[in-house]
Amino acid sequence: MKRDTRLIHGSRHKASTKLAETVGPPIQRGSTVLLPNAAAIHDYSQISYGRQGLASHQALVAALAEMEGASDVSLFPSGLAAITGTLLAVVKAGDEILAADSVYRPTRRFCDTVLARLGVSTRYFEPSLSAEGVLALATPATRLIMLETPGSLTMDMQDIPGIARAARARGVLTAVDNTWAAGLLFKPLAHGIDISIQSLTKYVGGHSDVFMGSAATANPAAAKLLDAAQLEMGWAVAPDDAYFMLRGLRTLGTRLERHEANAMIIARWLESHGNVLQVLYPALPGAPGHDIWKRDFSGASGLLSFVARPGSSAAVDTFIDALRLFGLGYSWGGFESLAIPGDPQFACRGFQPRFGGPVIRLQIGLEDPDDLISDLDQALAAYATA
Ligand SMILES: *Cc1c(COP(=O)(O)O)cnc(C)c1O
Repeated sequence: MKRDTRLIHGSRHKASTKLAETVGPPIQRGSTVLLPNAAAIHDYSQISYGRQGLASHQALVAALAEMEGASDVSLFPSGLAAITGTLLAVVKAGDEILAADSVYRPTRRFCDTVLARLGVSTRYFEPSLSAEGVLALATPATRLIMLETPGSLTMDMQDIPGIARAARARGVLTAVDNTWAAGLLFKPLAHGIDISIQSLTKYVGGHSDVFMGSAATANPAAAKLLDAAQLEMGWAVAPDDAYFMLRGLRTLGTRLERHEANAMIIARWLESHGNVLQVLYPALPGAPGHDIWKRDFSGASGLLSFVARPGSSAAVDTFIDALRLFGLGYSWGGFESLAIPGDPQFACRGFQPRFGGPVIRLQIGLEDPDDLISDLDQALAAYATA
């Protein structure tokens, strides 16, 4: 063979020799998949293109399916893409979505812009509405109920089993954004939900450095719609990213136990602080939604909010800027603590939260809780004098 042919074909047979077995799956990069023979062209059960997912994707999908109790898991390039992709997979023009008012703000933006443009309308309900109340809003056009528990920033809990049961009886699909519980501390599918969505970017990744989302289902009809959408829309995720998510998943249980323990220490400390009116953390006895959390969840993650004594938005800014260990960031789920003011994000809501003071959300990381408390203490003191 001549030089250029040797450059292209040299060592190729070597790459296909049996791989040594490592703890993690091989990171198999590839767009083209080489089919073994001509007969394989007619066999649609085989992976025939890299977009369908290779070794690391398959390992991640299998692990997520086991965790969620799902028969089918679709991966998306981000958590938001998992939400928007799921909605696109199931709705058609003329359909209506009922969504909890406290859904992740970009979920709402997608419904109100892209879906509205495609002839799909969305109505929002008060997030702690009972199952009967939610289903009383349904019309023959209602295709899907979009839930998120606890709700973003205000941590409202929904009666998921009740809503799932009532929706199923009416032939309405249900989906839950399950990011807070990371697929581990709450099992939507076991509670009758059709599609459990999460941003793996948060606790599964765990290090604030990779984007991905998943949609898991045990409902064959929903699985068919999700698979078709995956094929038709061309969504794909990188094999390296799938590997990182699987790596994060291995320590998810251990990290979440520490996030919960730290968050509970801080929730109790905040509860007794003179500048704090209320702590919004469903795992905390007496907090809003605690009874539902106790009934349906097996644990809590490290994301909570608190209501400060009345103060100006400038005082909230003073609090945020006074923090030294808590970063200022919209995301959460990583090893590091973060804070973000809630109120500027409430403007789009149909049911304005009324807590009697500003809402501040904290992601409690894996630092020593004593140090986090000292940091919060001096920042709350600065808040009180601002
Ligand atoms: C962050 C987040 C998402 C979106 O995830 P990305 O991976 O950042 O796109 C969805 N839902 C909730 C509740 C989130 O916090």
